[in-house]
Amino acid sequence: AQDRYTDIRHKPATALCGTTISLQMNAGLMADLPSLENSGAEGVGLFRTELQFLVRNQFPRRSELASLYGRVLDAAQGKRVVFRTLDIGSDKVLPYMKPQDEPNPALGWRAIRVGLDKPGVLRMQLQALLRAANGRALTVMFPFVAQYEEFTQARAALTKAIKREEALGHILPENIEVGAMLETPSLAFAPDAFFEDVDFLSIGGNDLKQFFFAADRENERVRKRYDSLNVSFLSFMEMIVDRCSKTQTPISFCGEDAGKPIEAVCFAAMGLRTLSMRPASIGPVKSLLMRVNLADVKKVIETARAEGKMSVRDDIAAYIRSLG
Ligand code: PEP
Ligand code: MG
Repeated sequence: AQDRYTDIRHKPATALCGTTISLQMNAGLMADLPSLENSGAEGVGLFRTELQFLVRNQFPRRSELASLYGRVLDAAQGKRVVFRTLDIGSDKVLPYMKPQDEPNPALGWRAIRVGLDKPGVLRMQLQALLRAANGRALTVMFPFVAQYEEFTQARAALTKAIKREEALGHILPENIEVGAMLETPSLAFAPDAFFEDVDFLSIGGNDLKQFFFAADRENERVRKRYDSLNVSFLSFMEMIVDRCSKTQTPISFCGEDAGKPIEAVCFAAMGLRTLSMRPASIGPVKSLLMRVNLADVKKVIETARAEGKMSVRDDIAAYIRSLG
């Protein structure tokens, strides 16, 4: 399927209105890296680090992780890689960790909450990342940050790790960007100071959508009621983009929906300029983006919203058909 898009692989994803969207890829394994070249992705917008923790029966060692992250950066050849720190709990349970008996794991002890309460693993992972960079630029993103303070604490752990590396005489990254995933509605309402403080944000639409609609992402029965092209969800995306533009905070979207062409076009119309998706989605998303005028897409969304429609899917589909 990738071959159909070979001729646009190295072209920018520029819509008819002239707006260019940066398309990045999601990855989680070393084996994903060749796709960086094959798909035409501009970088790795989300590198999920939990896979290395999930495929074994004990915690990986720092040296193993450092070597793996280093090889990821080698393969990226200078393209930006956003390393997301360990996101475990909820649907991702480590076989060698004591199982938590939680009634609602998705709302439970997971991701950065684990990293802050049991800082040993986060510290080890941050050290591995700093060593892997070996003087190159490093981008770190903390998952499931629900309030400003959690970001401050996680970043303090990174600052501490940097000081330690420095004291040990290790070479530090030439530049470090520190961001957070916006996966809980609460973070969209964080104080301005938070938006000014983060280097960047990335919307984790899979989680954000489940909490926005209070519908379990693993539960097909309830999930299917809520369309990602629901006008309320699109308004929420627009609100987040507006907040970020006030503070000039770079914002991207890295949930599964970014890889669906119609969704991607609607998110772009709401103002998102960076989308990260599985590599095979880049061709189809780019192909549709190049055919649309985002101002027209926005008008379709606004009209549907004014008419009280629940989802804009039919109207956008009609607009796309009208393009011929
Ligand atoms: C998300 O929640 O949208 C996301 C990208 O993270 P994950 O799917 O790994 O929870
Ligand atoms: Mg998530």
